[in-house]
Amino acid sequence: MKNNFIKKIIKKSILKNTNYKIKTRFPPEPNGYLHIGHAKSICLNFNIANKYNGQCNLRFDDTNPKKEKKKYIDSIKKDIKWLGFNWYKKTKYTSNYFNQLYQYAVQLIKENLAYVEELNKNEIKKYRGTLKKVGKKSPFRNRTIKENLILFEKMKLGMFPEGSMCLRAKINMKSPYIILRDPVLYRIIYAKHHQTKNEWCIYPMYDFAHCIADALEGITHSLCTLEFQDNRQLYTWILKKLNFIQKPPKQYEFSKLTLEHTILSKRKLKILINSKLVNGWEDPRLHTISGLRNRGYTKNSIRMFCKKIGVTKQQNIIELSLLESCIRKDLNMSSPRRMAIINPIKIIITNLPEDYIENFSVFNHPQAKEMGTRKILFTKEIYIEKEDFSQKKRENYRGLILGKKIRLKYAYIIKAKKILKNKNNEINCILCKYYPKKIEKKIGIIHWISIKNSIPAQFQLFNILFICKNPEKQDNFMQSYNSNSYILKQGYVESIINQEKINHAYQFERIGYFLKTKQEKTKQMISFNRIVSLKNKYRNFI
Ligand code: ATP
Ligand code: MG
Repeated sequence: MKNNFIKKIIKKSILKNTNYKIKTRFPPEPNGYLHIGHAKSICLNFNIANKYNGQCNLRFDDTNPKKEKKKYIDSIKKDIKWLGFNWYKKTKYTSNYFNQLYQYAVQLIKENLAYVEELNKNEIKKYRGTLKKVGKKSPFRNRTIKENLILFEKMKLGMFPEGSMCLRAKINMKSPYIILRDPVLYRIIYAKHHQTKNEWCIYPMYDFAHCIADALEGITHSLCTLEFQDNRQLYTWILKKLNFIQKPPKQYEFSKLTLEHTILSKRKLKILINSKLVNGWEDPRLHTISGLRNRGYTKNSIRMFCKKIGVTKQQNIIELSLLESCIRKDLNMSSPRRMAIINPIKIIITNLPEDYIENFSVFNHPQAKEMGTRKILFTKEIYIEKEDFSQKKRENYRGLILGKKIRLKYAYIIKAKKILKNKNNEINCILCKYYPKKIEKKIGIIHWISIKNSIPAQFQLFNILFICKNPEKQDNFMQSYNSNSYILKQGYVESIINQEKINHAYQFERIGYFLKTKQEKTKQMISFNRIVSLKNKYRNFI
């Protein structure tokens, strides 16, 4: 963890008091799956707790039963564990404190600091004013304490319809902080809650519940994203008025992660998922934790990425290439090398006999020799990549050109002599001559597979989901959806891979890192996800 500004604040608190026990929390709302932005917050909260021998709670911020689901709770827990973090003791829920929260609301009413509102949502908004215009007091602001207590009790008993009433704090309709212009504390919602079932029909707002839950759990540093900066005024107001004055938790804000060519906001993710342009929350093109995991990203790569981006107050968009460099770095040492051909083109070596077979023993990893060796076959018929052949000379082209030589990696030099085409004038195969030498200056090297040493394979190629850099900023982000974000290809891989484990990552030489997702079974082809290409230029490889 870099020495970020939050760590500096914590160090200072510890210097002042060596018995100081750091307590943080990660407070997801169970209304969607976690994404890489959440991973930033998870790494920050859990790493701080771990580093300073403190605790980090997992607390579901479950105050809106209409949007929350048990399946989201389960996926969130799974993702945090997969990232390698353990929360302190039992999983916590804001709903654990519904009784206490209700009592605290009553306390505010008794101190004439809250009142039952009958204006509707739009009227409340209108009365609230703007940054330029001060707010106006509600005609219901001056009810008596007794009347407020009775009405709030009746709200709780389910005697009013949804939206007809709410509880508001009585603060200051002229405050320069709009959040302090009598914010709503409780609203009526008739919906079954995943934890408390039908026990409640009034639910606290985030701003009311969060600070109290933090205080009840003894959180010391309540870390959230920058859009809550103004809410801090309300956070401290509520705690002060409720007499949490002995070591109250403090809120600190940091910038949200935004990543190029993707969206992270759950609201927008839901639009995308409902449109069926992606295959649910776990689609490998999404930057949800489960999507990344399915694609083949490792927990280490995500944690490395979070470490690299750091924690600041500057809001900027992070380049996708940074995330890609992290997964390449993590997979580089652990992934065995293999050869695969995604867009095959056949080569026939004319000066080799039909049944010619030569074995080469090659290292599975150029640096990690302990990964051992394997045998590859060199035979009369082989596959190379279509992109590695050109009929004509092209600038900066390093592949095989008609009439020119190329070196086959680990094997010999070949020269392209003739193209055989089918009726539709498409290339059928290329006739080549081989030279039994392995080294020649100034010629390129390409990968290849002997037909005898290959099995058919399917490749799922994932590309950026949105063409524009910052789709979150676009009014209609769906317009920049990349229709080439998913491409299915059929090619070949070395046969040895069929005997190897599933969910195993390989580096296919010159192409990229791939995750084996399916084994060859009857009628089912062995299948791979492209986790990341070797270079950025392959990102839109079709
Ligand atoms: P979203 O905008 O994706 O719906 P949210 O803030 O509503 O996010 P929560 O479930 O409330 O989602 O978030 C839990 C925690 O994760 C919060 O503390 C929040 O600040 C943090 N968080 C959410 N998105 C990001 C992000 N992009 N970068 C960093 N932290 C984030
Ligand atoms: Mg939220």
